[in-house]
Amino acid sequence: MERLVKRSFSSLPAPQSSHQKNMKIEPQHVVSLTYDLYVDQENGEEGLVESATQEQPLTFIYGAGQMLPKFEEHLNGLSTGDPYEFRLTAEDAYGEYDNEAVASLPKEMFGSEEIPTVGAMLPLQDNDGNRLQGQVVSIAEDAVLVDLNHPMAGQALHFKGEILNVRPANEEELSHGHAHGEDGHSGH
Ligand SMILES: [Zn+2]
Repeated sequence: MERLVKRSFSSLPAPQSSHQKNMKIEPQHVVSLTYDLYVDQENGEEGLVESATQEQPLTFIYGAGQMLPKFEEHLNGLSTGDPYEFRLTAEDAYGEYDNEAVASLPKEMFGSEEIPTVGAMLPLQDNDGNRLQGQVVSIAEDAVLVDLNHPMAGQALHFKGEILNVRPANEEELSHGHAHGEDGHSGH
């Protein structure tokens, strides 16, 4: 008869991980996730336009207004390891395309700087101090015409990805209003 040998594993080190299994996504928590973002192309098929990978995840404080509100709504209550997939209408994403949202910038505005070329993205500020990006659509004799729509305006967004980590935001992150990396130590 064989003798039952009891093995003890008690001397093995406990696995060290900052990943907490059951923490759910909620405000004031830092979320790290992967995503693939697809939009409809002119040929009717979906094309991949942006990704965040396991190696370079997207990390943000949930509920701090950094993300599209509807994007966050779809992630509410998920936890580490959960896959997700959802679609946002253009209206719930970056808005419908607005034909009126074109600004004419007098060339004098650029002073001695070079006049930008068609397709260039210009960092701009509106009268209320809001920052926005404008894309140069044409150059007139005395003005530069800039499209103020978000580059993804008018597009439905299809997101697919996985939640990599959820943890409470630390005080420094909360006071800065942004996450300091997946582990909270990539501060500055
Ligand atoms: Zn900071």
